[in-house]
Amino acid sequence: MIQQRKGVVLIISAASGTGKTTLVKRLLAEFPNFAYSISCTTRPPREGEVDGIDYYFLSREEFIARREQGYFAEWAEVYGNFYGSPLKPMLEKLAQGQDVIFEIDVQGAAQVRLSIPEAQCIFILPPSLAELEKRLRGRGTDSEEVIARRMSAATQEIREAHWFDTWVVNDNLDIAYDCLRAAYVASTLAPTLAPQHVRALLAQEK
Ligand code: 5GP
Repeated sequence: MIQQRKGVVLIISAASGTGKTTLVKRLLAEFPNFAYSISCTTRPPREGEVDGIDYYFLSREEFIARREQGYFAEWAEVYGNFYGSPLKPMLEKLAQGQDVIFEIDVQGAAQVRLSIPEAQCIFILPPSLAELEKRLRGRGTDSEEVIARRMSAATQEIREAHWFDTWVVNDNLDIAYDCLRAAYVASTLAPTLAPQHVRALLAQEK
């Protein structure tokens, strides 16, 4: 009988406004067994965001205290706010054979990559910078100053895309989703996640 495989760590990065949250929500809806790593942040909640679902919203003092206790698998300062992924829930989910998805920036992705080299790093690219700016404006949640900061940060992030395992261009959402889904499913087929499968088959040899 085929036994359970180890969990996959999937890291999704992109410049903000690229559509990664929409793509990740779709993946989580199709694969309910996925565990989403809920990050902590010091930025204030946007309209509709719920504490404990979208993020854990912390004060700067609380974030720094937790960081010093080794609470985070990775952390980064993005647009003047701190963001971090709690370590313990991730390790627990992986030990249970669950796949864990992180939606984090490139600095965080690089840190997770160092501690978990087999993590699959996927970068979502916008079709163009003009389209990215249009989407950020259309979101209607950020001030002009924040949009300008996000646009200059976007090119910085895209400069890091070269070391990711997979690129997904989000021009058409359905096509981008198919690519993301394919990359995820392919990553679950790595022999290192279930080396016992082939051992078990060979043990059946007569
Ligand atoms: P936003 O404020 O738009 O939700 O997120 C801003 C950026 O921070 C995005 O690139 C997002 O992926 C990233 N981010 C969110 N959570 C984390 C985290 O836990 N760690 C790191 N390194 N980046 C994060």
